[in-house]
Amino acid sequence: MESIKHLIRDIPDFPKKGIIFKDITPILGDPAAMARITGAFEQTLEPLKPTRIVGIESRGFLFGGVLAAAMNLPFSPVRKPGKLPYDKISVSYSLEYGEGTLEMHTDGVTRGERAVVIDDLLATGGTAAAACQLVEKLGAQVVALGFVIELGFLGGRQKLPGRQIVSLVTI
Ligand code: AMP
Repeated sequence: MESIKHLIRDIPDFPKKGIIFKDITPILGDPAAMARITGAFEQTLEPLKPTRIVGIESRGFLFGGVLAAAMNLPFSPVRKPGKLPYDKISVSYSLEYGEGTLEMHTDGVTRGERAVVIDDLLATGGTAAAACQLVEKLGAQVVALGFVIELGFLGGRQKLPGRQIVSLVTI
């Protein structure tokens, strides 16, 4: 997966001063890279027998949606507040640049399901931990989390103790 590193563009001071934003739009513009990412996730996750892919807004939709279709699994979105139209549950969390809330439809997962949570990037881990809480509140299991990029120096894994984490590129 080293081969996708050159498709991750550093944008200094976005969206706030001091943050180096990892822009993944060059990956989206490269279908071969998207296929390699999807294939790598699929190979690692298949043995865990997931029944659903849960994607975190918004870049988790891009990688999670493609992966769900490739694995022939249903996809469910975890979204920022006020975006989901149906009955939902919420969890509050802290992230690298601010505070927030995430929501999921009450029928986003079914009790007993084996969900994989996908996002583009693991930073401090707050967002991913909140997504796990949503899935588990609804009685499903998180069998793994998948990230295209992990910012290892931020120690996000510490917020996800005991969880199976698949990250394709660690920076
Ligand atoms: P965190 O909760 O700190 O792990 O933040 C993860 C979420 O924020 C993911 O949805 C990322 O897309 C986004 N994010 C955090 N830091 C960055 C960054 N440096 N570059 C791009 N996205 C980021």
